Amino acid sequence: MNKNDIIVIHGTDYKEMAKKVMEAADVAGRIGDRSTSIGLKPNLVTSSTPESGATTHAELLCGAIEYLQEHGFQDITIMEGSWVGEITPNAFRTAGYDQVIRKYGVPFYDLQKDSWTEYDARGMKIKLCDKAAGIGFMINMPVLKGHCQTIVTCALKNNKGVIPNQEKRRFHTLGLHKPIAHLNTIAKNDFILVDNICGDLDFEEGGNPVQMDRVLGFLDPVLCDTFVCESMGYEKDDIEYIVLAEKLGVGSTDLEHANIIYLNEPVAGRSMKKRTRRVEALERYIEADDACSACYGSLIYAMDRLNDRGMLGRGTKKVCIGQGFRGKTGDIGVGACTSCFKKTLGGCPPKAKDMLEFLEKNL
Ligand code: SF4
Repeated sequence: MNKNDIIVIHGTDYKEMAKKVMEAADVAGRIGDRSTSIGLKPNLVTSSTPESGATTHAELLCGAIEYLQEHGFQDITIMEGSWVGEITPNAFRTAGYDQVIRKYGVPFYDLQKDSWTEYDARGMKIKLCDKAAGIGFMINMPVLKGHCQTIVTCALKNNKGVIPNQEKRRFHTLGLHKPIAHLNTIAKNDFILVDNICGDLDFEEGGNPVQMDRVLGFLDPVLCDTFVCESMGYEKDDIEYIVLAEKLGVGSTDLEHANIIYLNEPVAGRSMKKRTRRVEALERYIEADDACSACYGSLIYAMDRLNDRGMLGRGTKKVCIGQGFRGKTGDIGVGACTSCFKKTLGGCPPKAKDMLEFLEKNL
C-alpha cells in the first residue's frame, strides 16, 4: 500500500470488512517482526453505543484482532482515554469491548491512568501518554463523523485520546485546531482503519447517525481527513487543523492524486438501524429506490449542508437516488443509477461534496 492509497469496502459484515481492508493493505507485512507490540486505538469519546454514531464498532476491533492473531501477532493492546468528563471503562463497556477482550484474550489499557512525557511537537510542547508513545505499531481506528467545534473528526482528532486529561483541557482552551495538528507530528498513525459505518451528522457524542456501511484504510491521516471532508460535503480549507497538519508535514491533502482502491461494489439496500427526526427531516427531500448506504449517506450529508445554507423548504424538488431508477427517466437524480434523468450527477457513489455542488446549481 502506498501513502496516497485509499482502500474502500462496502457491506454489513463489518468484522470481515476490517480483515479484508487490512489484508489489502498488507498490514502484517508493514509491521514485520511478529514480536512487535501493536496498539489498537478506537474512538471511545463517551459512553455511547456505536449505533449512535459516536464510537468505533466492536466488530472492527474483532476483525483487526483476528487478522493480527491469524498472522502470528500476539502482543496486541486496545488503548484509549475517553474525554475528560467520561470514565474510560464505562465507555468501554457501553461499546461492547468487554466481550471483545474476553473472546480474544487481548488487554485493554486506560490511557486516562497512564503516565506521560512532554515532547517538542514541531514548535509546540505536548504531553503524550507513555504507553501510546512506546507502542511498536499503532492502528488508529477513528469514526468518520461530525464535530460540534471542529466540524469533522476522524484520524487526526482521534489522537486526542493518547494525551493525558490535563492536556485535553489545554487543547480546548487553545481552540483545538492548532494543538491537534501539532499532536500528529508526534502521535503514531502507522495504519488507519476508519469506521465509516454510521458516524454522526455533526456531533461527536452521536445521536444522529448516518448509515454508510463502509470501512476505509489509509496510511496518511491528513489524506484520510481530507477524504472525510469531501464525504461530508466540506472543503478541506473549512477545517483549519487539516490544512495546518499538512503544513507541518504530517501528510498530504492532495486527493486529486489519491489512488482509491475499491475492494467491492456498493450493495443496494440500506441497513439503517436508527433514524432520528433530524435525519428524517432531510429525507423529506429524497426519493430513494434501492439506494446503497454509501450513496444515500452521502446525500444525507449533502442535504444537511444545503439545509445549513437555507436551501431546503417548501417547493424543493425531491432528489432521486438508487438502483431502482436505473434506465428510468426523471427530473433530478444523483449517482450513476440516475444517468437517464434530465439533470443527473455521475459517480458510484458520488461524494457529498460533488452532490452539494450539483444540487446547489440544479435544485
Ligand atoms: S450510483 Fe447506484 S449503484 Fe452506485 S452507489 Fe449509488 S445507488 Fe448504489
